[in-house]
Amino acid sequence: MQTYRQRIIELLSEKEMTARDLSRALGIREKEVYRHLEHVEKSVARTGRKLVVKSFQCLSCGYSFRDRTRYTPPGRCPRCKSSYLEKPFYRISA
Ligand SMILES: [Zn+2]
Repeated sequence: MQTYRQRIIELLSEKEMTARDLSRALGIREKEVYRHLEHVEKSVARTGRKLVVKSFQCLSCGYSFRDRTRYTPPGRCPRCKSSYLEKPFYRISA
Protein backbone atom coordinates (compact mmCIF):
# COMPACT_ATOMS: atom_id res chain seq x y z
CA MET A 1 0.00 0.00 0.00
CA GLN A 2 2.63 2.47 1.12
CA THR A 3 4.83 1.60 -1.83
CA TYR A 4 2.10 2.36 -4.38
CA ARG A 5 1.62 5.77 -2.82
CA GLN A 6 5.35 6.44 -2.72
CA ARG A 7 5.60 5.45 -6.36
CA ILE A 8 2.68 7.74 -7.31
CA ILE A 9 4.40 10.61 -5.50
CA GLU A 10 7.64 9.94 -7.39
CA LEU A 11 5.93 9.69 -10.76
CA LEU A 12 3.73 12.76 -10.34
CA SER A 13 6.63 14.84 -9.07
CA GLU A 14 8.38 14.17 -12.37
CA LYS A 15 5.54 14.55 -14.85
CA GLU A 16 1.82 14.90 -15.44
CA MET A 17 -0.04 11.65 -15.74
CA THR A 18 -3.63 10.50 -16.10
CA ALA A 19 -5.20 7.88 -13.86
CA ARG A 20 -4.84 5.45 -16.75
CA ASP A 21 -1.12 6.19 -17.08
CA LEU A 22 -0.73 5.59 -13.35
CA SER A 23 -2.76 2.41 -13.45
CA ARG A 24 -0.50 1.07 -16.22
CA ALA A 25 2.70 2.16 -14.51
CA LEU A 26 1.71 0.53 -11.22
CA GLY A 27 -0.20 -2.46 -12.53
CA ILE A 28 -3.33 -1.63 -10.53
CA ARG A 29 -6.86 -0.70 -11.54
CA GLU A 30 -7.85 2.89 -12.23
CA LYS A 31 -10.39 2.72 -9.42
CA GLU A 32 -7.58 1.96 -6.98
CA VAL A 33 -5.51 4.83 -8.36
CA TYR A 34 -8.23 7.30 -7.29
CA ARG A 35 -8.31 5.77 -3.84
CA HIS A 36 -4.52 6.18 -3.52
CA LEU A 37 -4.68 9.76 -4.80
CA GLU A 38 -6.79 10.78 -1.81
CA HIS A 39 -4.01 9.59 0.50
CA VAL A 40 -1.22 10.92 -1.67
CA GLU A 41 -2.83 14.35 -1.39
CA LYS A 42 -2.64 14.17 2.40
CA SER A 43 0.96 12.96 2.50
CA VAL A 44 2.30 15.59 0.13
CA ALA A 45 0.36 18.30 2.00
CA ARG A 46 2.50 17.50 5.05
CA THR A 47 5.58 18.59 3.12
CA GLY A 48 3.85 21.72 1.82
CA ARG A 49 3.23 20.38 -1.68
CA LYS A 50 0.00 19.92 -3.57
CA LEU A 51 -1.58 17.27 -5.72
CA VAL A 52 -3.02 19.29 -8.58
CA VAL A 53 -5.70 18.30 -11.07
CA LYS A 54 -4.84 20.11 -14.30
CA SER A 55 -7.78 21.81 -15.98
CA PHE A 56 -9.41 19.72 -18.68
CA GLN A 57 -12.22 20.17 -21.16
CA CYS A 58 -15.45 18.75 -22.45
CA LEU A 59 -14.64 17.58 -25.96
CA SER A 60 -18.16 18.33 -27.17
CA CYS A 61 -18.70 21.92 -26.06
CA GLY A 62 -15.33 23.04 -24.70
CA TYR A 63 -16.56 23.53 -21.14
CA SER A 64 -13.49 23.80 -18.94
CA PHE A 65 -13.16 21.94 -15.65
CA ARG A 66 -10.90 24.11 -13.53
CA ASP A 67 -9.73 23.95 -9.97
CA ARG A 68 -11.33 20.60 -9.51
CA THR A 69 -10.66 19.27 -6.03
CA ARG A 70 -12.07 15.79 -6.49
CA TYR A 71 -9.76 13.27 -8.07
CA THR A 72 -12.35 11.10 -9.72
CA PRO A 73 -13.29 12.50 -13.13
CA PRO A 74 -16.84 13.75 -13.70
CA GLY A 75 -19.12 11.43 -15.66
CA ARG A 76 -20.75 14.18 -17.67
CA CYS A 77 -20.32 17.76 -18.70
CA PRO A 78 -22.50 20.06 -16.53
CA ARG A 79 -23.20 22.27 -19.54
CA CYS A 80 -24.04 19.92 -22.44
CA LYS A 81 -24.35 16.58 -20.58
CA SER A 82 -21.89 14.90 -22.91
CA SER A 83 -19.68 12.16 -21.50
CA TYR A 84 -17.02 12.85 -24.13
CA LEU A 85 -14.51 14.48 -21.79
CA GLU A 86 -10.76 14.85 -21.71
CA LYS A 87 -9.01 12.80 -19.05
CA PRO A 88 -7.64 14.86 -16.19
CA PHE A 89 -3.89 14.95 -15.69
CA TYR A 90 -2.47 14.94 -12.17
CA ARG A 91 0.74 16.49 -11.00
CA ILE A 92 2.46 17.18 -7.74
CA SER A 93 3.52 20.79 -7.51
CA ALA A 94 6.71 21.78 -5.72
ZN1 LIG B 1 -19.94 19.94 -22.72
